[in-house]
Amino acid sequence: MNPIREALCSRCGRPADTYLRYAKLNLCKEHFLDYILARVEDTVKRYRMIKPKARILAAVSGGKDSSTMLLTLSKLTGKFDFELTALHIDLGIDEYSTEARMIVEKVCRIAGIRYAIIGLEDLLGLSIPKLARRIYRPPCSICGAVKRYLLNLAGVEAGVDMVALGHHLDDLAVYILKNFLLQNLEDIRKLGPKTEGYDGFLVGRIRPLYEVYERDTALYVSFAGIPYQSLECPFHSVGMEDRIRAFLDGMEEDSPGFKIAFARSIARSLSKYPQPRYEVRRCGLCGMPSQSDVCSFCRMMMKVLGKPLGLELRDRVREIVSKL
Ligand code: SF4
Ligand code: ZN
Ligand code: ZN
Repeated sequence: MNPIREALCSRCGRPADTYLRYAKLNLCKEHFLDYILARVEDTVKRYRMIKPKARILAAVSGGKDSSTMLLTLSKLTGKFDFELTALHIDLGIDEYSTEARMIVEKVCRIAGIRYAIIGLEDLLGLSIPKLARRIYRPPCSICGAVKRYLLNLAGVEAGVDMVALGHHLDDLAVYILKNFLLQNLEDIRKLGPKTEGYDGFLVGRIRPLYEVYERDTALYVSFAGIPYQSLECPFHSVGMEDRIRAFLDGMEEDSPGFKIAFARSIARSLSKYPQPRYEVRRCGLCGMPSQSDVCSFCRMMMKVLGKPLGLELRDRVREIVSKL
């Protein structure tokens, strides 16, 4: 006998489609979708993520997480009075990126959101695998840095107030604990629900799924009938994060809701963690944030292409996001 089949939705009394242990709720598809939307709404309110009239740029990957973020935020634009657009960065990782791009286009159309796509091959003539081969580094070690740089640049050039990221509760709990274990305490500050930017060259970030579990994002897109990425990136490997995830999953199993309580207590104590020791400066070549005279992205381009792209790159990105 399947207990889920027999259970009834706590809201409408029809057969339930899922049980949320952390909330002790049986829910049918419709009421599950409403429940997750309400969780995102509460999160946006609780952490004062969006100011009225704000322009928000959602970073979308084609995965279940960022699609859930985009779809839920798109339903809240009227309530919080903000404008929402989306950006996808095509990393050029074979079929994985082809599938991601196709899904992003579909999801943005379903959500009725204007979007722009930055293709690394078009922009730099280099995909992540090519870039990694040229500088002899593992793809994942440059991928995150390239995405962060371009997302911020796109946000600056589009003139948005905030960039919205699809990071969910399970991943955030892992990153926070990992940084704690490694005593990278300054980095914990960057993992809160909202990070303020610096006027003109560093766009602030919000994480509307700060209190939403990964499992719920998978259910959300599936119950909403939204396609999401089925292929895994070929460069994904098991690392320290997966061991930490298993530990946190065990805690959640023993005490449902543990991760939410953990994330909330971190959010309350963020100001106690040390500020970065370096001053955020402007890169002398591209004007984007840097810890030294030249940012790591410009240094990487000099190594690979023999010249920094600097302001030329900014012009190209400005043109791509001009349709937003
Ligand atoms: Fe980038 Fe793939 Fe590594 Fe993720 S797993 S950081 S998408 S290269
Ligand atoms: Zn119901
Ligand atoms: Zn630079």
